This record gives sequence, C-alpha cells and structure tokens, in this order.
Amino acid sequence: MGSQYQKITGSIINQLSAIVGQENIITDEAAMEDYSRDEMPLLKPYSPQAVVKPADNREIAEVMKLANREKVPVTPRGGGTGLSGGCIPIYGGIVLSLERMNRILEIDEENFVAVTEAGVTLTDLYSHLEEHGLYYPVYPGELAAFIGGTIATNAGGMNAVKYGVTKQNVLGLEVVLPNGDIIKTGGKFVKCATGYDLTQLITGSEGTLAIITQAILKLTTRPPKREVLFAPFTSLQDAIDAVPEILRLPMVPIGLEFMDKGIIDIIEKYLERDMPYHQYEAFLMVTMEGEDEDKILDYFAKVEEICKRHGAVEAMVPGSEHAKRRLFEAREKFYHALHKFAPMEIMDVVVPRSEIAKFLRRVKEISDGYQMTVVPYGHAGDGNVHIHPICVNMDLKEWLNRLPQLMRDVYVTGVSLGGTISGEHGIGFDKKEFLRLGIDDRLLGVMKAIKRTFDPNNILNPGKIFDLDS
Ligand SMILES: Cc1cc2nc3c(=O)[nH]c(=O)nc-3n(C[C@H](O)[C@H](O)[C@H](O)COP(=O)(O)OP(=O)(O)OC[C@H]3O[C@@H](n4cnc5c(N)ncnc54)[C@H](O)[C@@H]3O)c2cc1C
Repeated sequence: MGSQYQKITGSIINQLSAIVGQENIITDEAAMEDYSRDEMPLLKPYSPQAVVKPADNREIAEVMKLANREKVPVTPRGGGTGLSGGCIPIYGGIVLSLERMNRILEIDEENFVAVTEAGVTLTDLYSHLEEHGLYYPVYPGELAAFIGGTIATNAGGMNAVKYGVTKQNVLGLEVVLPNGDIIKTGGKFVKCATGYDLTQLITGSEGTLAIITQAILKLTTRPPKREVLFAPFTSLQDAIDAVPEILRLPMVPIGLEFMDKGIIDIIEKYLERDMPYHQYEAFLMVTMEGEDEDKILDYFAKVEEICKRHGAVEAMVPGSEHAKRRLFEAREKFYHALHKFAPMEIMDVVVPRSEIAKFLRRVKEISDGYQMTVVPYGHAGDGNVHIHPICVNMDLKEWLNRLPQLMRDVYVTGVSLGGTISGEHGIGFDKKEFLRLGIDDRLLGVMKAIKRTFDPNNILNPGKIFDLDS
C-alpha cells in the first residue's frame, strides 16, 4: 500500500519551510528518532521523512493542502504516550507534531468550559485549572499526553466511573480536514441536535479523519476531599464479585480499580518498597471524593461491609496524605514497572461489568493453556480490563510465537462475553490485525466509507485502525 505515496522531495521541504519556517522542520535522522515511536510495547521504530511543527490552524491547513496534492502521508502526533502505535509514521512522510500549539486560550468560568489548543499537556491544563478552582476530570495515567491526543484516542482512565471518558467531556472541536479545510463542531453548550455530531465522530478517530487543532472542554469543580479505600482479598474472584454491589450504592466512586498479587510483586520491585497487605492475592482500590469527609467515611464503611462479605481480609483507608499519595503513585506506575520488569504486551479489553469475573477466569485458562504468564489489572468500575502477557520463564522467540494466538483467544473471549477489544487505548497500528474480531464486515464497511469521505486520498494517518484496501 505504501507505493501509492510520494517521497518527500527537496522541493516539498522548501514548500513546508515556507509554511512553518525552516526552524520548525526536522529532517535529521537522529533528531527524528523521538518521533519514530510511542509507548507501545514491542514496537519497532518507523522513521518519518520530516517532522513538521506548525504554529496554528492556518499553517496546518497549508501543510495538508500540500500533502494532499503531493500524496504525502501525514501522521498527527501529540505527546507520543499512546499505547497502540497510533502516532508512528508507518509509511514515512510527515509527522505533524502539535507541540507548539500549547496555549490555553480561555477559561470560561460562567459556562464551565476551557478552550485549548491541541498541544496543551494534561499536566499544564490541570495546574492552570487549579488556579481557577476548576477541574477537567479525564485522567489517563500519563499526564504528558496532549489534549489533542486524548481526544483522538477517546482516553479514559481512572476517573471514568463517575465522570465518563473523553467523549463525555468534549463539547466542541476545531479541526483541519485532509484537504486543508478548517471546520468547527459543537460549542460552549451541552445540548446539540443540529445535524450529525462530528465532535463525537472525530473523538476517538485516532487521527485518521481530521487534525484536531482546538477543543472546547467541559469543566467541573473538584470536591475538596478525596479518599481511597484499599481492600485485600484471598482471591481475585472474590474481589471482582464485590464490585457490582459497591456500584449499587447510591454514591458513585470516581474510580474502582482491581489488581492481583502479580502486579503488586512487580510494583514493589520497581518502587523498592512494600505495598500494604502484599501477601494477599487480590485487591480493590475504591476512590471517592466529596465535600464532607464524614460522608466519604460513611460510604467507605458500607464498602468495607460489602468487601468483607465477599471475603476481604481487611479494608484500609490511609490516614495520612503521604500514605494516600503512595497508593495512587503505585497504581499510576504499573505500566512503567511492567515495562522494566520483562518484555510484555498490553490488551485493554472491555466487557460488561457483570462479566469481568468470568472473563478473568477464562483468560487464566487461556494463558495456562499456552503456558504463558498474564498480569491482569484495571478499571473494575467500568469493565475495562488491562491484560499484560509478560515474557517470564520462556525464551523470547517462543513467547513471541505464541503471543498472537493468545491475544486472539483473549479478544474472542472478551467479545463473546459482550465486550470489545479496546476500551481506551485504541486500535492504532498494534491491534489492527484483531479489529475484525470486534466489529463485523458491515460496520467496517461504514467506517471505511466515512474515512473515504473525509480523506479520499488516504493521506491522513494511513494504515491505522484498518487498511482501506483490505
Ligand atoms: C503509563 C501510561 C499510562 C496510560 N494510562 C492510560 C489510561 O489509563 N487511559 C487511557 O485512555 N490511556 C492511557 N494511556 C495511553 C495514552 O496516554 C493515551 O492514549 C493518550 O490519550 C495519548 O495522548 P498523546 O497526546 O500522547 O497522543 P499520541 O500518542 O501522540 O497519539 C495518539 C493518537 O492520536 C492521534 N493524534 C494525536 N494528536 C492528534 C491531533 N491533534 N489531531 C488528530 N489526531 C491526533 C495520533 O495520530 C495517534 O493516532 C497511558 C499511557 C501510558 C504511557
């Protein structure tokens, strides 16, 4: 498929320089290294021919017109923290980095919205909003992600039980289409019945339909108190069984995470410190926020009662900020700890919450069948289960041989339980071969028709989510 694209010539570089300025183009191989990968495990790097860093939507529009005319592929890139290879330029061409478009344009305190450029990092947005006593509740574990990237991937994360994922928190977009047209969708309002909802279509489209340049984000105020309950269990099954009952309580937690001993052992090695109750098999971590600490503690008393009825050995609410912080820090470092521990893959299957226990049981049977180790943890509150096959006690070549079939079996199992293959990390490049397990031919046909409408020359992030010609 790559043969349909043109290589970038000296003349194209000159034209790009005229658009963004020579100092905002990289063509040096070594300097482009950082743009040839993301955080996807097991990824071999793909180098672009040029990295282009525009300053605004008009420059992006000009770059797209040029690329469309010359049939040069363009891969949008945010913070490069994606886990599916979405921002890597598999057909070379241009990597279009949003890093210079990092201005927070407006905090509208009356309408509870922020208007930002796509290259603002989550870290910067959170700290800026804090000064205004406001909060953008989408919280994926990696705060170096850009707003544009989180929208392109429909990022979820650890606050989704209460606040939803990115789709529920984006009100409008400004985007540049592959032909260079600039369009605006949505606005500073929460209702909209005016034609097709392109905000929702572009959110989660992984940079294949349009380049996001600005976003209108829905804000909230952050309740002042945030507490966490940590409960150890003697079996993962018991821990998961407690989840539906916890979610039936009238108060909604921000997050409800599960983890097993496998990941606790790994995080202890990584952080070089012990986790509480590390001798037990499984854990639930329930995070609740509110105005009033007593109300949170009342809620936790009920959660504790449910957990203990389901076999929890204990239920701990850390008394100090320090102890609380250490728990959150450990949870946020799981991915990095696994990365350091062994070669690994990541799957982020989502199933109906009621099926998590069955899904995990089957995953264990599958991994035992392949004599491979998998480490599960994830967002029990929204059914999003992270499954990490890790290469331990096995030759790497043999592990890599077995890996695709194990992944296929896990995906088929998730789908057979009413779930789908990705809840938040996206399909990107990494999961493309498995997409057909999650959607049927007719749905794929509609998706391809949408892609062709937006991008008839297939120049915007080609080869991601699906191949148009397969
Ligand atoms: C340690 C760790 C923990 C993580 N935890 C979570 C988690 O809990 N939940 C979760 O959802 N994700 C998680 N992620 C994944 C990642 O942080 C998210 O996918 C994030 O949304 C990616 O943002 P980014 O700016 O880094 O995008 P990139 O990686 O740069 O790009 C991701 C995709 O978006 C496209 N894109 C980027 N910017 C634009 C734009 N302006 N316009 C159009 N397309 C664009 C790219 O082409 C690519 O397809 C985690 C990652 C790490 C490393």
